Amino acid sequence: MYLDILAGIFIGLTASMASGLPSGELIMFAVAAALAPDIDFIVYLIRHRGQVGKYAHEHRDLFHRPLLVSGLGGALIAFLVSPIHGIIWFLGTLWHFVHDTFDGGFGIRWLDPFYPGYFTLASYSPQRHFKNKTEQRAIATEYGNPQNWWLVRWDKKRLLYRILFTLLLGLVAYLVR
Ligand SMILES: [Zn+2]
Repeated sequence: MYLDILAGIFIGLTASMASGLPSGELIMFAVAAALAPDIDFIVYLIRHRGQVGKYAHEHRDLFHRPLLVSGLGGALIAFLVSPIHGIIWFLGTLWHFVHDTFDGGFGIRWLDPFYPGYFTLASYSPQRHFKNKTEQRAIATEYGNPQNWWLVRWDKKRLLYRILFTLLLGLVAYLVR
């Protein structure tokens, strides 16, 4: 999530410099785009009453679809809002999917709706490709849900890094406002 916010700031700032438009609004939109696909995690939490089980990575089945969300979504926003917003949405969400391909869960359905398989480059995943949900579930049953790790990740050092990083983000937000 922190990396997504950082990438969003970078995309928004670059878009602002390229287009000459004010940076504040573009940065906020880019950060929102970089985080947007995970709204399906909130949907998952509501549906499952806050329980995060070993299949929780399946929240991604809803919005983690690069062709539809980045491609079609970006084209729609370019048409309805502005081309620069369309490009920001495309890059922000695309970044999110690339990031998720390397971390959390067992892959992204990069070719949905044309192919139901999942692709991952996560170091802990025993496979790079799962043909379908059944195959992915079999691995999740055996290995557990890697996204559960964030619940037990709150060791002191990591907490300190996160506080420092949040302060740094606040400083950046203050400077570019
Ligand atoms: Zn995600």
